[in-house]
Amino acid sequence: MNAPPAIGGLDGPVWTIVVAAGSGDRFGGPKQFLRLAGTRLVDRAVGLATGCSDGVVLVVPPGHVWTGSAVGTVVEGGTTRADSTRRGLAAVPSDAAIIVVHDAARPLADIGIFARVVAAVRDGRAEGAVPGIPVADTLKRVDSAGAVVDTVERAGLYAVQTPQAFRASVLRSAHTSGGDATDDAALVEAVGGRVVVVPGSVRNLKITVADDVEIATALLAHE
Ligand code: C5P
Repeated sequence: MNAPPAIGGLDGPVWTIVVAAGSGDRFGGPKQFLRLAGTRLVDRAVGLATGCSDGVVLVVPPGHVWTGSAVGTVVEGGTTRADSTRRGLAAVPSDAAIIVVHDAARPLADIGIFARVVAAVRDGRAEGAVPGIPVADTLKRVDSAGAVVDTVERAGLYAVQTPQAFRASVLRSAHTSGGDATDDAALVEAVGGRVVVVPGSVRNLKITVADDVEIATALLAHE
């Protein structure tokens, strides 16, 4: 199979939006302010973003007064994750070439993942790059009564993480629709953007339920 046409390399600054404006309904509270091994999830995400980008925009819950480390810009989020990204986007300078979006709820993301997503956009392989891991479990679709409706073919399915990197112009146009999705890549895909998956990490779990805190704490103990 022929490789798809290159989109063209990209110079210019990398900015990261850290979305930390969730209410943590499934968790029972705003998990991004929880401490893991002494450091809040949001501070871990901001620390990674700061080390890997030219600038950071942090999106916090409405009314939240930020007390963490110095961040270029802090803005208030919206009711959905996509709204929060949009509010962050409005604060990213117009000369940003690549915009990365990262969930504060992923305290174990690392520099390697960050570098892989940025490189894929920087060298023109794609307009968006997301870290992913092949799905290992068998997948079932289940109805509201708990009965299995079907077994979903697993081949080719990836569980996708953040940080996710995008050509800035493409991410901005993907968000003009005001649409909603569980990640930014879905909005870029919806406007025809080419998104690729690069290797993520099984360690890069998203803190969603209380058990995730125990797993993340154990993983951090071995860092
Ligand atoms: O709720 P979920 O785990 O999908 O949230 C993923 C990330 O998006 C979290 O870091 C959360 O704080 C953020 N988020 C947000 N604004 C919302 C909802 C979620 O910034 N309205």
